Amino acid sequence: MEKTVDILVTGGCSAGLYFAGLMARQGFKVLVCEKSSEEKLGDRYNIIHIAKEQFGRFGLHEPGKGDPEYVAEFSRSIQKSALNKWPKNSYTTIKVLRRGPLMRRLANWAREQGAEILFETSFEKALYDGKGILAGAVFQNKGNALYVHARLSADASGIPAVLRTSLPPGYGVENFVTGPRDMFYVVLHYVNLKHPETDKVETNTTWTQYKVWLAPQHETDGAIIGVGANLSYDYAEKIFRRFEAKGYLPEYELDHIEKGCTPYRRPPYSFVAGGFIALGDAACLTNPWSGEGVPYAWLLCKIAAEEYGRIMKDSGVPSAASAWNINLRYIREQGALFAKNLAMLCGATDCTDKENDYEYKHSIIYEDDAEKGKHNLALGLLGGFLSGGISVKSLGNLLNAAGIGGKIEKHYLKFPGSPEGLAAWSTQADALWARAGSMADMAEKDLNRAAAAY
Ligand SMILES: Cc1cc2nc3c(=O)[nH]c(=O)nc-3n(C[C@H](O)[C@H](O)[C@H](O)COP(=O)(O)OP(=O)(O)OC[C@H]3O[C@@H](n4cnc5c(N)ncnc54)[C@H](O)[C@@H]3O)c2cc1C
Repeated sequence: MEKTVDILVTGGCSAGLYFAGLMARQGFKVLVCEKSSEEKLGDRYNIIHIAKEQFGRFGLHEPGKGDPEYVAEFSRSIQKSALNKWPKNSYTTIKVLRRGPLMRRLANWAREQGAEILFETSFEKALYDGKGILAGAVFQNKGNALYVHARLSADASGIPAVLRTSLPPGYGVENFVTGPRDMFYVVLHYVNLKHPETDKVETNTTWTQYKVWLAPQHETDGAIIGVGANLSYDYAEKIFRRFEAKGYLPEYELDHIEKGCTPYRRPPYSFVAGGFIALGDAACLTNPWSGEGVPYAWLLCKIAAEEYGRIMKDSGVPSAASAWNINLRYIREQGALFAKNLAMLCGATDCTDKENDYEYKHSIIYEDDAEKGKHNLALGLLGGFLSGGISVKSLGNLLNAAGIGGKIEKHYLKFPGSPEGLAAWSTQADALWARAGSMADMAEKDLNRAAAAY
């Protein structure tokens, strides 16, 4: 079987379907090849949280009562210190949604815009033209090979990034594999509360030091207790048991567990190359502080669709140079900030429970919505050091984190204006990232410390 289209999208979930719809709406011939069946689309995990404002921002239907994907919504989230004190409130309306039905609605929307979707169609290999430029891909569709010729091939296959990782070295977008040390392992415990009358969970509470959160289940008297950690599911469960021993959680009985991974590393320096773009988790676009990815994937899709919509009016394959503005716009709108936050993580989280409690008490790093802009970080840290609330070591960690985060953000904001400048810029960026440290290394150190103490 053969097909010729303008745009081929590998992977049809939150990123791929949205990009496909945006491009089809502009009159391009778009084909999405998705490995899963339509019935099982998006069922990797069940409940997803997306801020209400994102639906309007990206021109998508805002789920409400009566929609199959809608479960509930809440407006207040709380963060607490490692000693379960000093709650910090933030107020944004969050939609609690069923992921499967949400993705099926997105598939219908993409089809309404004119995109074609082939389910149960799995990527096999990339196709190149005589000059070595990407020209589509080969898929397996129910035992048959499907050759798809395309001017632009988008990789939206999630963490496996099947197309991006198959690109030859030096093609223009890095072909790294997002390996076990580059992932955030999430374990969701769906539980029934033993005393729902007194312990009812009505809002999200997160203990940032342990990356543990307690969320309502809405449809029952239960709750979802989540934990996320770098390195492995095993390590995430260990952290969870350590947290549970503190006794802050309500009494419960475990119903079932869901597990999943999100990328936890810097994105490729360029998203675009000749006839190619990486989107969503395939481009490691998740928020370093929360692991959430959907709105950030949608942002890159929207920018890319605006730029390619213009560029692809001319026939032929869109080059990296013609699509370069996608990199520049994404970095300005979001990428530089995420790079800064990711670089700061190791230093900002490397402290004791007591120090974390001090930071909460004095609104250092962690602030209530009502406190935003009222505290000076440097003065807070100095006060913490002088009063003994923060040790020299942790102060050093925090200052290093702020320093390296600031430098990386500045460097990203000087992203080169064309592909020619990328090699020199990347060498400097590599050197900065090497100083930022790795959350997986920290997790490993923690495990070794625990083993030694035992
Ligand atoms: C437990 C958990 C909870 C999360 N909660 C939230 C949340 O509340 N809010 C939020 O915003 N984000 C959340 N995230 C992150 C979010 O799920 C991802 O960032 C988002 O799904 C990325 O979308 P994507 O389309 O890039 O990738 P994916 O959703 O992974 O989709 C990739 C698609 O590609 C297909 N595919 C893979 N390989 C092939 C192949 N060989 N051929 C063809 N198709 C292929 C897959 O079948 C899949 O449909 C969570 C993640 C986890 C693990």
